[in-house]
Amino acid sequence: MKILIIGGSHAGIAVAKKVKSLSPKTNVTLIEATDHLGFISDTINLMLQGLISKDNIAEGEVYTIDDIRAAGVDLHLNTTALEIDYKNKKVLIQESTHSTEELAYDYLVLAMGSSSFEKLDAIKEHPNVNLLTYKYPDETLKTYEALQSSQSIMIIGAGLIGLELANSFTTRPSQTINLIERADYPLFRYFDKEIVEILMRHIPKNFHIYTNQNFYELENTTDDKIRLVTWDDQKITADTCVLALNPKPNTHIVEDHLDLNPDGTIKVNQYMQTSDPAIFACGDLVRIPVIHDNENSYLPLIGNARKTGYIAAYNILYGTSKSYPPSQRTLATKLFDHYLGSTGITATEASFSGYDVVEINKEYHTYAKYEQERDFHLYLKVIFDRKSRELLGAQVITNDRVQLDLINIFSVMIYHHDLIDQLLEVDTFFSPEINPTRNTLIDIGIESLKYHNQTTHHDDL
Ligand SMILES: Cc1cc2nc3c(=O)[nH]c(=O)nc-3n(C[C@H](O)[C@H](O)[C@H](O)COP(=O)(O)OP(=O)(O)OC[C@H]3O[C@@H](n4cnc5c(N)ncnc54)[C@H](O)[C@@H]3O)c2cc1C
Repeated sequence: MKILIIGGSHAGIAVAKKVKSLSPKTNVTLIEATDHLGFISDTINLMLQGLISKDNIAEGEVYTIDDIRAAGVDLHLNTTALEIDYKNKKVLIQESTHSTEELAYDYLVLAMGSSSFEKLDAIKEHPNVNLLTYKYPDETLKTYEALQSSQSIMIIGAGLIGLELANSFTTRPSQTINLIERADYPLFRYFDKEIVEILMRHIPKNFHIYTNQNFYELENTTDDKIRLVTWDDQKITADTCVLALNPKPNTHIVEDHLDLNPDGTIKVNQYMQTSDPAIFACGDLVRIPVIHDNENSYLPLIGNARKTGYIAAYNILYGTSKSYPPSQRTLATKLFDHYLGSTGITATEASFSGYDVVEINKEYHTYAKYEQERDFHLYLKVIFDRKSRELLGAQVITNDRVQLDLINIFSVMIYHHDLIDQLLEVDTFFSPEINPTRNTLIDIGIESLKYHNQTTHHDDL
């Protein structure tokens, strides 16, 4: 069997490696348009924080040519897929400037990822405005250089990637950072407002966040800067403007043949199979199911790219039998010296999806009576459905890295469709020197009983 994969990044490499580890004799060819293998787009932040030098940008890549070839994959770098002959199952490819050739396949895997950011009306109307991006190494270097020499920076998008970029400037008080966000608060996709409000108390003075910005104009000024004019006529001028928005899937070579969703992602079934049974798609090209959410979501993250890749590989080898397990949408980040984590859906989304939402919001500060020096701040929010009592989501903001692991515990519980009451059924350790008499999980479980339909005797617990 011949498997041909287009795109040698996180998803494409996951497919190639999984196929070769499960079935070493299967013929796997991987073609990648650049000479990079699995670049981590967050690398720019490591460069701005001085953790990777610009001469060592390759440190931002997860794999090496040797890794992939050692796995037995036939790897073609600097090779672009130009066209697909679906009837005869062949792909027309071109290596650098060489002449074209055709590669045959039994199964084709699309892993072309995403690149140019979603089209903003402001950009369509002003195509000459120089807007920078940083998904791949070349654009990362260019954007890094521009940011280093800018006194004022405008970042369009105050979601996770926009705030992570802004965070890299916390130790540079001489640079002004303007964040432009269309929602009414930053990070709205993963966090409810009160969590973000706690974070906002810690943003540096040289940061300005403009929310509810759906309509604005972008223009070049005569002194070579970029000006954004908001709908209410505020004018924000910066030396450099960076786009930190949801990327757009690279589907142009298949859009005449495969079924697409309205957002441009490729339609796949639960096995990552497209509307053409010989073609699978994964990574940033597809939407995935999210637990407790009625619709599939576009969640372009490395973990999801790999997971969709593994599922595609398995189903190609063994027939369509392994469904994509719904994502808990678990993530964490560090912003302005605070750790934030989220799993499941937010309270806003849960209400929107028709759940009768109960929220428990609690703060914790102490490990144990005898360990005062390790005190911390933790704000924990847990969301469950009043009727079924099923856990729907959890969010934390804390200054203590250890507390962030609570999110992984809730993620596992949400994966198993656990009820909030099960917090009181699991064993948790207790030792007076290292934890309080009532630990966080038990405390949330007890708190949830206030919302129980039946009368419960708290003293029984
Ligand atoms: C600024 C930014 C920061 C991010 N930070 C994080 C983070 O911290 N953590 C996280 O989990 N996720 C992060 N992400 C998301 C993450 O980068 C993507 O989810 C991930 O790269 C998707 O992997 P992929 O393999 O699907 O596609 P991509 O990484 O987009 O790769 C697709 C590959 O296909 C190749 N290709 C495309 N067309 C062709 C063709 N016709 N022929 C041959 N090759 C082709 C491309 O050259 C590319 O190498 C970030 C994204 C951005 C934009």
